[in-house]
Amino acid sequence: MNDHSPPAPSPVMAQYLEIKEANPGCLLFFRMGDFFELFFDDALAAAQALDIALTKRGRHNGADIPMCGVPAHTAEAYLARLIRAGFKVAICDQLEDPAEGKRRGARGPIRRAVTRVVTAGTLTEEGLLDARRHNYLAGIAEAGGDMGLAWLDLSTGAFALTSTSEPTLAGDLARLSPGEILLPERLLTRPALFELLAEWKPALTPLPNPRFESEAGRRRLEHYYGVGALDGFGNFGRAELAAAGALVDYVSLTQQGRAAHLDPPRQVAPGSVMQIDAATRRNLELVATLAGERKGSLVATIDRTVTAAAARLLADHLAAPLTEPSAIAERLDAVEFFVDRAALRAALRGRLKHCPDIERALTRLGLGRGGPRDLAALRQSLGETAGLRDMLAEPGLVPLPERLAAAQRGLGEHEILVGRLGRALAAESPLFARDGGFIAAGYSDELDEWRGLRDEGRRMIAALQARYVGESGIAALKVRHNNIIGYYVEVSANHAGKLGPEFIHRQTMAGAQRYTTAELAELETKIASAAERALALELRLYEDLVAEVMARRAEITAAAVALATLDLAAGLAELAAEAEWVRPVVEESTAFEVLGGRHPTVEAALAGEGRGGGFVANDCVLAENRIWLVTGPNMAGKSTFLRQNALITILAQMGSCVPARSARIGIVDRLFSRVGAADDLARGRSTFMVEMVETAAILNQAGPRSFVILDEIGRGTATFDGLSIAWAALEHLHDVNRCRTLFATHYHELTALAAKLPSLACHTMRVKEWKGDVVFLHEVGPGTADRSYGIHVAKLAGLPKSVTARAEEVLSVLEKGEQGGALTRLADDLPLFSAARRRAEPAPRESAVEALLRDTRPDELTPREALDLVYRLKGLVPE
Ligand code: ADP
Repeated sequence: MNDHSPPAPSPVMAQYLEIKEANPGCLLFFRMGDFFELFFDDALAAAQALDIALTKRGRHNGADIPMCGVPAHTAEAYLARLIRAGFKVAICDQLEDPAEGKRRGARGPIRRAVTRVVTAGTLTEEGLLDARRHNYLAGIAEAGGDMGLAWLDLSTGAFALTSTSEPTLAGDLARLSPGEILLPERLLTRPALFELLAEWKPALTPLPNPRFESEAGRRRLEHYYGVGALDGFGNFGRAELAAAGALVDYVSLTQQGRAAHLDPPRQVAPGSVMQIDAATRRNLELVATLAGERKGSLVATIDRTVTAAAARLLADHLAAPLTEPSAIAERLDAVEFFVDRAALRAALRGRLKHCPDIERALTRLGLGRGGPRDLAALRQSLGETAGLRDMLAEPGLVPLPERLAAAQRGLGEHEILVGRLGRALAAESPLFARDGGFIAAGYSDELDEWRGLRDEGRRMIAALQARYVGESGIAALKVRHNNIIGYYVEVSANHAGKLGPEFIHRQTMAGAQRYTTAELAELETKIASAAERALALELRLYEDLVAEVMARRAEITAAAVALATLDLAAGLAELAAEAEWVRPVVEESTAFEVLGGRHPTVEAALAGEGRGGGFVANDCVLAENRIWLVTGPNMAGKSTFLRQNALITILAQMGSCVPARSARIGIVDRLFSRVGAADDLARGRSTFMVEMVETAAILNQAGPRSFVILDEIGRGTATFDGLSIAWAALEHLHDVNRCRTLFATHYHELTALAAKLPSLACHTMRVKEWKGDVVFLHEVGPGTADRSYGIHVAKLAGLPKSVTARAEEVLSVLEKGEQGGALTRLADDLPLFSAARRRAEPAPRESAVEALLRDTRPDELTPREALDLVYRLKGLVPE
């Protein structure tokens, strides 16, 4: 080393650099006292993402070291923001306190190590999670030409896997909507996956290929579950094992070896759930509206659950409707049971309302990340199980539907644990055990004794203060406490001279002096040691309680599942009763017979505007006529009709009642939609390109058990182009895909196909022309629309009158067959003059009714006069 070389890093910095290097790809939260500090590039990135001050500390290689920090006790809020911004964060804690380090005689920095890596897919804290949604960590792997997909929710222990393929992967990911996706690096360069992965870019965590080795995966799973073979869990393919093994590996890495609990992996057979691709999910607004909001989505409309775990179950069921009629019937039996028993339903929901989330509490406790509130949640929820069990045991209710009987068994017996937690826990719990004060008085004699001593000490301090006031004559003398100098006597500066020699000076403050005395110091030691012992004992008692909970983990998990099952069934029943939904018949056929169907969210929105009952119900019966061609003007309700039938199918197959008078639905294995048109500028696609990509997916993939809704294809291009594409697509759907299809179009030319395609029937949205205006009836009936009424909609939208009148003129020429000459004449007729001509048009004469209304002052009318007015108005309308 020569004189110019930079000095070696300080010991703490050397420790930092070593730990930083061992955790690539993560921001390092480096604990220093009460703060987590970030250095170098981490500091730059975090300061910007969190909008906090960037400072510097010391120098490294001749340059200042950028630094920023967050207080340890509020770190969670900052973590949440960083994770949401796409970072991973390694938490490096102090493993001993500085005093301990000194006692150890160590010269270097105190011991520190990463205790956890926080990533979007491995969150467990309440503050970082959405209570009503699962947060999945997914893994994709490939072995022997097959693809496997595994997913888990660390916060609840749910774990599942399935085999998938390049074409189905997109739909599978859309169903799970994972917070983080692990995949081998080599898949990133696979052209077939390029687009799909681009869509999930912020969630991707590519890892070295060997981490996805199937044999290693098998061994990891066997080791994790302590079994010699996995056969008991299912017959897993190599790709599935590779994916699941990579997940288990990643969990142990991010949790730094803490034993996270995962349920045994549940194998989901491909085809056991309805396939719905990402575009269809978006278009149908299942979990979010097109504007990205939960409010107004299907899930928000149907969610009547009162517990978070049931809301998560509902979201899962909605994302993955079943394809097995008997499994669907089992769910529907449970819902129907509660539909028929309003009083029981109300009582049960009343109790469930008092059940906090125990799935996530249990996981946090298992990971050593829980607190007294998690124990309190268990006491509370498990305390309700006995009452719920009894409710379901009423003789009149037997036999319960299978799902409910299983839930009743699952509720289990928790009296002993609930009793113990009840005795142990105080009414109020702090978030962290280390804050103490959560064990109830009377639970432990020893604890009560230490607390007594501590409190006695505090009382003695109060007495001491009174005595000092008396002796010194300084009424404002106070004995106070702070964390730095402990207990002290404080008097204002002008009284300082009045104190006796036993007062030893400690600190001079602005306007005040602080002292201690031998007596005070002695009392302080007594209090501190009693408080310290009380807290240490409390922590031991806490650990005992956690250990007891963990020993009963399986029963508690079963109870949590049972609570969610009951709440979901009762919630769907509540919805059905409230909104007059009916139980659908779901069967192994290709029937589709919805009578009096309604659109759940449009209907709810109308009711929200005070127009309950304003929704017009419509039938949709696809039998020999598998394809319905629906024509009608814009705004007549075509999209609503198409979507409502798709939504009814999803609801039926997820095991919910449906908004209809009756519904019989043959299992739909895949649901496709092409509706709406949104430019996907982020991916450089025009509206028309998006439309064609979605149409291609349908024509290439739909089969005889699929259900397809197509809303306006071929719109984004020239009329003849668009019409030709729509025409050919319809023929393909009819002859090749042979699936149940609702096809809405404003090209009435297509209705000519009805003569040629035997399974196609034409339907139209009824409209009524009334005094030159168009009234949309929102009724679907057989037949075809003869006009588009686009100009009427333009009028409704408020286009200037001169423009709509001119449009009518152009239309009438076009309708006569687009004669070139006539069109040219039209074009020659300069719009400037025609616009001016029309502006001069006289305003329409006011009718008698309008005149009367204009002169009426509603605020000045009595109810009686208002009624008279209505009669007068009525009299003015010609019979
Ligand atoms: P289109 O697809 O024909 O342009 P939409 O389906 O978008 O028409 O419907 C336009 C509006 O009409 C909807 O936003 C809704 O408010 C109303 N609407 C549609 N269908 C119905 C119905 N069956 N009953 C009552 N209102 C309806």
